[in-house]
Order: sequence, then C-alpha cells, then structure tokens
Amino acid sequence: MTDRVRSFRHARARAGDAGRASRGRAPLPLDPSAALASAEPPFRETGFGAALREAAPLVPAFRSAPLGRRLNGVFALTPDELPLVGPTGVEGLWCAEAWVTHAGGVGRQLANMLLKTGDLLVEPERLDRRRFASWSDQKVRDTALGHHQGVCDAH
Ligand SMILES: Cc1cc2nc3c(=O)[nH]c(=O)nc-3n(C[C@H](O)[C@H](O)[C@H](O)COP(=O)(O)OP(=O)(O)OC[C@H]3O[C@@H](n4cnc5c(N)ncnc54)[C@H](O)[C@@H]3O)c2cc1C
Repeated sequence: MTDRVRSFRHARARAGDAGRASRGRAPLPLDPSAALASAEPPFRETGFGAALREAAPLVPAFRSAPLGRRLNGVFALTPDELPLVGPTGVEGLWCAEAWVTHAGGVGRQLANMLLKTGDLLVEPERLDRRRFASWSDQKVRDTALGHHQGVCDAH
C-alpha cells in the first residue's frame, strides 16, 4: 500500500455524507486510566491536516464539500491482532472485543461458547483475554503498537 493511499485510507457514504479516514501516521498511544473517560480524544488538526489535503485530488467532491464532524477515534490493538472473546472473570459478564472485520466470526464464537454447542471456530484459549497474562504491561503495549500499521492495512 502506498503512503498516499494509506494516508487517505477510505471514503464512505452515510446518510448523504461522505466519510474519509486516514491511517497513515504513527500511532498516538493512550494509557488506560480511570481519568480516560472517552474513546474519542479531541480532533488534532496537526495530525490529520495532511490527509485532508491529500484526499482532495483523489476525490474531486472533497475539494469543495464542507467539513462536517471530525473524529479522532481510538483503535483497540492486541499484541497478536486477534480479538478478545470469552468470560471476563466477573460472573455473567463476557467480552467480545473485535474489529468489524472479525465481527461475524466473533459473534458466532461467543454465541456458541455461551450456548455450549461445542461448535467452535477456534479453540477458546486462542482468543482468551488471559493469553497475555504472563506478559508485562510494557510488553503488551510495545507489541500491540508494533502491529499498528499491519492492522490498519488489513482491516
Ligand atoms: C476511526 C475508526 C475507524 C475504524 N475502521 C475500521 C475498519 O475499517 N474496519 C474494521 O474492521 N474496524 C474498524 N474500526 C474498529 C471498529 O470500529 C471497532 O473494533 C468496533 O466498532 C468495535 O465494536 P464494539 O461493538 O465492540 O464496540 P463499539 O462499536 O464501540 O460499540 C459499543 C457501543 O456501546 C455504547 N456504550 C458505551 N458505553 C455505554 C454505556 N455505559 N451504556 C450504554 N451504551 C454504551 C457505545 O455508545 C457504542 O455504541 C475502526 C475504529 C475507529 C475508531
């Protein structure tokens, strides 16, 4: 994938609006904390301005279209680029953390685990949230961040 295409990753139509996304820059890691109340930090002109400029020659409508909502959305990364699926350790609370790309399989896996059908797509341990339990926080963070560009290209 070229840097230019990566920078202006995709356009989407939604209710008459056009959406454009950029994934061409280095990740801006967030540390989980009680103070982190939202998965949407403020939009940063410095981080996204180049993508807006690069989109214009590729999609002529973007040259004159007014800008609507700007979103600085947080990506959830795991060290192996795979979802977290299964019980959380809290009675009755299960997790299904996944990208949209994985959503169909994750929904099916979770449903089959909950219903105990035995018809699982993968071994539950492969997606269990505890598979990184022996790792340090730093190793989880560094490894996950190392997959940032690959995840952006794949999904
Ligand atoms: C900018 C951006 C671009 C992305 N592009 C892609 C892509 O191209 N391909 C891809 O596969 N993935 C993409 N992703 C990742 C994908 O969007 C997420 O992995 C996916 O949406 C996660 O789904 P979810 O159902 O777990 O969580 P969410 O989609 O976040 O849904 C959680 C819902 O719960 C609601 N909620 C939260 N707290 C409460 C509460 N206390 N009470 C009631 N409701 C609550 C939220 O409002 C939200 O509607 C992108 C993510 C971002 C941020």
